[in-house]
Amino acid sequence: MQSTMNTSVNTQHFLELEEQFGAHNYHPLPVVLNRGNGVFLFDVDGKRFYDFLSGYSAVNQGHCHPRIIASLVEQAQKLTLTSRAFHSNLLGEYEQYITGYFGYDKVLPMNTGVEAVETAIKLSRKWGYEIKGIPVNKAKIIVCNSNFHGRTVNIISFSTDPAAKKNFGPFNSGYELVPHNDLNALEIAFQNEHVAAFLFEPIQGEAGVIVPDDGYYKGIRNLCTKYDVLMVADEIQTGLARTGKILACEHEQVKPDILILGKALSGGTLPVSAVLCSDEIMLTIKPGEHGSTYGGNPLACAIAMTALQVLKDEHMAENAEAMGQLFRNELKKLNSPFIETIRGKGLLNAIVIKHTDPDAAWELCLALKDNGLLAKPTHGDKIRFAPPLVISKAQLLESVSIIAESLKVLGN
Ligand code: PLP
Repeated sequence: MQSTMNTSVNTQHFLELEEQFGAHNYHPLPVVLNRGNGVFLFDVDGKRFYDFLSGYSAVNQGHCHPRIIASLVEQAQKLTLTSRAFHSNLLGEYEQYITGYFGYDKVLPMNTGVEAVETAIKLSRKWGYEIKGIPVNKAKIIVCNSNFHGRTVNIISFSTDPAAKKNFGPFNSGYELVPHNDLNALEIAFQNEHVAAFLFEPIQGEAGVIVPDDGYYKGIRNLCTKYDVLMVADEIQTGLARTGKILACEHEQVKPDILILGKALSGGTLPVSAVLCSDEIMLTIKPGEHGSTYGGNPLACAIAMTALQVLKDEHMAENAEAMGQLFRNELKKLNSPFIETIRGKGLLNAIVIKHTDPDAAWELCLALKDNGLLAKPTHGDKIRFAPPLVISKAQLLESVSIIAESLKVLGN
């Protein structure tokens, strides 16, 4: 196999440790990293790679961004965790900062992305019962086919990916699926007056960067308002400048009722997520009804404020827009018979591989690794290309030439 042939003894040592002592719930590329800087990652043999995954968009600001690391170190030496049993000097400051940044009344801080999605679902149901007047235990949340919102049993209850669900049942009820990018189906689903919310990804990342038609977000907004249904945008992957705007919904000047953020909220340093909404929705949850030991800890608060500020100070949304256009144009120019589709927005992009070998996307990723660029297939034939948003034009063009060179592994 190519993977073992191109693996050093040093690398092999670390691969074997994980294989023997770790759960086998991932299938990583055979590369062992020990350093990151901006758009680059370095392996244990000192080889340099362009990072075209960015920790699934958690590292939008680039690896070890100096300002984010400075905030981390400074705060870590003062206070890291109080729990929510007591106040901290940073929680209120952070809450004021992030609600002002996104234009919402209130924020509820959590840690991982999936916890924030769970929080948004709890808020939607509370609002459904206590404000909209849905009869008890009848609330429905509408979700999309091919969604990805995380891995808890509740969230996979409405997954349409068989691999995510197999032998993890029984599952939770209260969800109804509609096709992604289908406003007619959404309007039909909204006829049910027990619908509390529509939970969606503005671009379906895990499904392979599926970008909906122009007008989809506006259409959702209009239908949600018309039928008194909460518009709940999971911007964990699409948010924080990734698609060329601070939020993907801003491409259509649309404001969701509930906004879910995670990943790059900490610039890749620790799990920090957040749910933002109005007073009307947020204040349905009372003390003792929801929480998390680490949610809103002072270390996270300090890091998140800096991570958000550098996105603006360094114009990362604008760079994502410009570099994304350039990237897709340059890929098109390659005219490769093995690239069936090139799609994306800003620096959230994917290609679909066309090849007789079903492992072609994996083989291409191994070749990319050997040539100095890291990317990972999703759902077999798709490869996501999402570098840190600090990538320069020269770096982007060099990356495209690595992709061109690597495509040769698939034939001529
Ligand atoms: N929602 C979306 C859109 C995601 O892309 C992800 C992770 O990839 C999640 C939720 C879950 O986030 P986490 O892995 O931090 O729980």
